[in-house]
Amino acid sequence: MDQDLQLMKELTEAAGPPGLEVRIHNVMRRYLEQQTSHILSDNLGSLVGCLGEGGPRILLAAHMDEVAFMVSHITRDGFLRLQPLGGWWGHVMLAQRVHVLTRKGDLTGVIGSKAPHVLSVQERKNVLDIETMFVDIGASSREEAEMFGVEVGDPIVPICPFEVLPNPRMLMAKAWDNRAGCYVALKVLERLRREHHPNTVFAGATVQEEVGLRGAQTLAHTVDPDVAFALDVGVAGDTPGMNQKEGHSRLGAGPLLGFYDNSMIPHLKLRDLVIETAKKQRIPYQIDLMPGGGTDGGKIHTANRGVPTMVISVAARYIHSHVSIVHRDDLEHAVRLLVELVKQLDESTVNRIKGLDRRGGRPQEEGEKRLEREPSYV
Ligand SMILES: [Zn+2]
Repeated sequence: MDQDLQLMKELTEAAGPPGLEVRIHNVMRRYLEQQTSHILSDNLGSLVGCLGEGGPRILLAAHMDEVAFMVSHITRDGFLRLQPLGGWWGHVMLAQRVHVLTRKGDLTGVIGSKAPHVLSVQERKNVLDIETMFVDIGASSREEAEMFGVEVGDPIVPICPFEVLPNPRMLMAKAWDNRAGCYVALKVLERLRREHHPNTVFAGATVQEEVGLRGAQTLAHTVDPDVAFALDVGVAGDTPGMNQKEGHSRLGAGPLLGFYDNSMIPHLKLRDLVIETAKKQRIPYQIDLMPGGGTDGGKIHTANRGVPTMVISVAARYIHSHVSIVHRDDLEHAVRLLVELVKQLDESTVNRIKGLDRRGGRPQEEGEKRLEREPSYV
């Protein structure tokens, strides 16, 4: 396994339930410290490494948390009830292995399910309510579960070891949402250390995205960026049963440029710059519209007086389940695109994007120019 795969393995296998991100936070901190001497953090655990001095402030923010659970109740018989942390669908949960992270160590359990032999016809058609599900850790009573170390509030995370599939560009792991973005942020920093860029870059990851973009809000206030990129994953549309409306992105066909989601519409001039850069550098890309979801960009772009922001993601299959698949080419192309973008974001380009004159004060009259734009790139 090469170094980059090792990094992906470490990132995806680390636990990071929303609000309880300490393990992935520590992994991110260690790698950020290798790339930069200056780390900036908000008070909730979001973390960025800083490179460069002066010029516009450019934020590259992934999120480090993953969809997970919390122990909400221990039954008298020793089964654990679940509080979901982030968006889960009951269908993908049953019979999956989990780790319960207790003060005495990690316990393996399974989300219990009935055998098909005993299911009625009606039961087979239903999606089970998460409130009725439970984790079985093999305890025979509440007391025994407590003796094993389990307490209400303990985090529960999916188990899924990182694996390179027979096509070595296809990578399977838990939590690609959004360790893919964490990986991209770290690799962009690594590349920028060796290149000149006319700005200060803050790259890293937020906490608590999966429960409402919370760390993005606090990190944006901490960094106070001039321009931002939210790094995330998008829903791949290249599996059986997905239709054009649900998603049309394909693994390996280039990073996704977010044109719309229900938390943000990207700043037009920044969007144009991203497209022009991808075309000039011959980096493949896919245009993504995600009406049913949001990203950290939703909070970042409304921070302070507003931050021109764009979401750059990679397509991922089966997100918000135990296991997901991404394509290594997409990760690498996302890194290349972001490095090229950062190199271009000098003061005059950022001022042009923000509609400010050279002294950074007055909005320009840009109405005419906008009408001259090509109608569409789609
Ligand atoms: Zn997610």
